[in-house]
Amino acid sequence: MSEDPLGRVLGLVRDVPDFPSPGILFRDITPVLADAEALTTVATELAALMGDADLVAGIEARGFLLGTAAALVGGTGVVPVRKAGKLPRVAASRSYDLEYGTATLELPEGVVAPGARVFVVDDVLATGGTGAATVDLLGAAGADVVGFAVLAELTALGGRARLAPLPVHALLAF
Ligand code: AMP
Repeated sequence: MSEDPLGRVLGLVRDVPDFPSPGILFRDITPVLADAEALTTVATELAALMGDADLVAGIEARGFLLGTAAALVGGTGVVPVRKAGKLPRVAASRSYDLEYGTATLELPEGVVAPGARVFVVDDVLATGGTGAATVDLLGAAGADVVGFAVLAELTALGGRARLAPLPVHALLAF
């Protein structure tokens, strides 16, 4: 019996209780990345959502992997949205709240052209703070953010609402 491709991807997401802190159920996508068929499914599904985007932004760190895979299939380049202190030249930075703690994200200087149509990719959408900070950063650079996609959305946390009216896509929902 053949399984549907996204069902197979779903079966590879690993639940890790109490990581990185007590009470958090971490959705570990590492087994999805390590599986050739699942990775192809995810890259193809994400690329199909890119529309007329001419650049993908991948959020550190698992968004780098998924974003690059989508960009390769979709025929665009990719820009990393990085945690603070990693980039040699910074266009802008934003601090935000996470499901577990706080963080700062930075956009590299000089790689996102004003007016670029950017599609944002990450692994998991939880509270939406990471996504909202990323969209804000890209907007500050003059980009036109055309969509936001994740492999998995934690629907109970309501992160999607923080990104409205941006189109938000999730391949899997938990
Ligand atoms: P948030 O800003 O709350 O939407 O959190 C999204 C970011 O935190 C993503 O980059 C995820 O990698 C990570 N994250 C938050 N919660 C989880 C979770 N339960 N499982 C896996 N990753 C998570």
